[in-house]
Amino acid sequence: MAALHAHTSGDRSQDVVETGVRERESDPKVTRVGYSGLSDRDGFVTLDACIMDEHGVWGLVAFLRHIKNPISVARRVMEKTPHVIVVGEGALQFALNQGFAKEDLLTAEAQKKWEQWKADNQPFRTQINVENHGTIGLLAIDQSGNLSGACTTSGLAGKIHGCVGDSPITGVGLHVTNDVGTAAATGVGEAVIRAVGSVLVVESMR
Ligand code: ASP
Repeated sequence: MAALHAHTSGDRSQDVVETGVRERESDPKVTRVGYSGLSDRDGFVTLDACIMDEHGVWGLVAFLRHIKNPISVARRVMEKTPHVIVVGEGALQFALNQGFAKEDLLTAEAQKKWEQWKADNQPFRTQINVENHGTIGLLAIDQSGNLSGACTTSGLAGKIHGCVGDSPITGVGLHVTNDVGTAAATGVGEAVIRAVGSVLVVESMR
């Protein structure tokens, strides 16, 4: 809804995708992104996100903890630093310096699922099905005809601590080429990485 509103208000596509994704990241009912994302094997919620504009400019964060809107941290990386990628503890420090609030992202429901999962002593879950994925990729075209994209995820539930999938990786989880098109991915991150998925789709459209 937030994205639709931003779009109909004539916002730049970059703002539309950030606004739309933020809404889902903040929603406690959405358990695959941002606040309330499902945890890794060790009970930590670690988030990945990237954003790309019509000029091919990127910002991305990966393995970020404690910040419920990683997409906005990715945008700050893009706009406020000379860098493209900031990860882990450094990404958290950068976010805090930028005024983002430090929060506990593991909800009671997600903790319960993690405890159940541990009690079941489940092996690594590399199988992705409808219950086990949910990365959000939001792509938009604005009234000037410019494209942007945003991609955000808490990654595969039960992943190894430190694992990063395809979602924040430039050209893999997301790609934008303004005069061709844009694509984003969800599913088995390792498969999308091996295929260099999103750029492949955009180049196929070309
Ligand atoms: N592709 C995501 C990742 O590997 C998982 C997902 O789409 O749910 O992090």
